[in-house]
Amino acid sequence: MHPGEPFLIAYSRISDDWRKHNKKKAATSSWAAGKGVANQHRRNDRNAARHGAVIVHRYTDNDLSAAKRDVVRPDFQAMLRDLRRGLTPEGYPVHGIIVVDQDRAQRTDRDWEDLVEALTLVPSRRFYTPSGPMDLTDEAEILKTGVMAVVNKVESLKKKRRIRDWHQDRILDGLPHSGPRPFGWKEDRETLEPEEAEYLGWSIDERIKGKSMTTLCAEAKKRELTGSLGGEIVPTTLTQMMTAPRVCGYRANRGELVLDDDGSPIVGVWETVTTPEKWRAVCATFGDGSTYLARGSGTRSITGIPKTVKYLGSSLLRCQYRIPEEKSDGTVTTRVCNARIAGVRASSKRSPYVYSCSKCSHNAISGPMVDKLLERLVLTKLKQAEATYIKPEMSWPKESQLRQKADKLAGLEAQWSSDEISDAMFYRLAPSLEKEVRKLQRERAQFELAAESKQEAPNEVARKWLSGEYDLSQKRQVLFEMFAAVQVLPGQRGNKTPNPKRLIPVWN
Ligand SMILES: [Zn+2]
Repeated sequence: MHPGEPFLIAYSRISDDWRKHNKKKAATSSWAAGKGVANQHRRNDRNAARHGAVIVHRYTDNDLSAAKRDVVRPDFQAMLRDLRRGLTPEGYPVHGIIVVDQDRAQRTDRDWEDLVEALTLVPSRRFYTPSGPMDLTDEAEILKTGVMAVVNKVESLKKKRRIRDWHQDRILDGLPHSGPRPFGWKEDRETLEPEEAEYLGWSIDERIKGKSMTTLCAEAKKRELTGSLGGEIVPTTLTQMMTAPRVCGYRANRGELVLDDDGSPIVGVWETVTTPEKWRAVCATFGDGSTYLARGSGTRSITGIPKTVKYLGSSLLRCQYRIPEEKSDGTVTTRVCNARIAGVRASSKRSPYVYSCSKCSHNAISGPMVDKLLERLVLTKLKQAEATYIKPEMSWPKESQLRQKADKLAGLEAQWSSDEISDAMFYRLAPSLEKEVRKLQRERAQFELAAESKQEAPNEVARKWLSGEYDLSQKRQVLFEMFAAVQVLPGQRGNKTPNPKRLIPVWN
């Protein structure tokens, strides 16, 4: 070593493992230029020599994918420490760092900022690429490297997408899935397991019609069904089973539907449990984030009707007690309480529960009497409705609009992947289009849900009500659709005779 030769540290990072699985892309990709660690170090040696510098220490990280933002790079961190110290582990002074290109050192903007900060603690230190040393305290260089940052960010995004494509290719090629057998299918994952499939299909239908998850899970227990690993079927697992795209034949990968070039879902070879329409409808009964596609679970109720209610009329009933109010001038007026009344358990034999206003505590009424009356009102109304019932139209009016947008998005993606349009253009246009498509898809699911649940004829609803086919939450759904509220007039003190005239229905 000659005095005056700058001492450099070299940093290499390997992040190309996805290429191994995709020969065609690798052949055409600039990444194929070879960024293996050995290659990078060899090139660093050559470049350092060319610029009259000596490499005194090497740092190497292997983080497979720069697109995975949470990957920790131990050597990168060690390098930053050494830069701040100004010495390599062996005790050499550091005059600069060398890389084969900037993106090696700059996986994220944050990384880059940290590196620039550590390097320029000593302003004379330089950042070497094959084209030579750069002074990162210089405004012009900062600008130049800043532009590189944007380019690299796009590259990272693009790569993320390529990785996703690769997983998709695997699925399209029919490579085996991992994990346990899906509930509803035999070990071959293609043939239906009759009892499970029948239950799953039934659950989807009943959920669309409004049955609570508790009711559906109780049915599984009655049928002595368990999950494919033997566990009890609880709302969480059942939610995942019902909303898995596989039930209607759709393929999914890592929480995303697998789409063909036109943006339509790819249909698998296995037997199905339900139709795509019903699958979308059942997904719409759960909140965002609770379906299989969002990798979670939950049992949010379909309507705004509060769940975990024990009595038919709870919160539909409104207290009509008039609360006296004294004004500042001494006159007394009254104001209607109007609180929602809930059912509570009572000790009386004739009335094991009562609806009682907890706000004013001046209004209580026999539970069974109210429920009987509500039922009579519902059945009468259904009878009237049957006379004028027309089966509603089922097709969603915006279907062509959705198809148009989806086509446009697919076209854009095709142009992008064949390099007809620039990354910048793609990232400017695609997100808003994607958002619109997703919004329309959600709308369609909501529509189908509404159509599925509303198409039932009134006399069919009445039959189910009477036969016990409806559970409490379904009955309440019918009630809330029919009534805006049912007003409850306060009873007379001491009068124990049930008086149905205390109820005043407010029809929707
Ligand atoms: Zn009240």
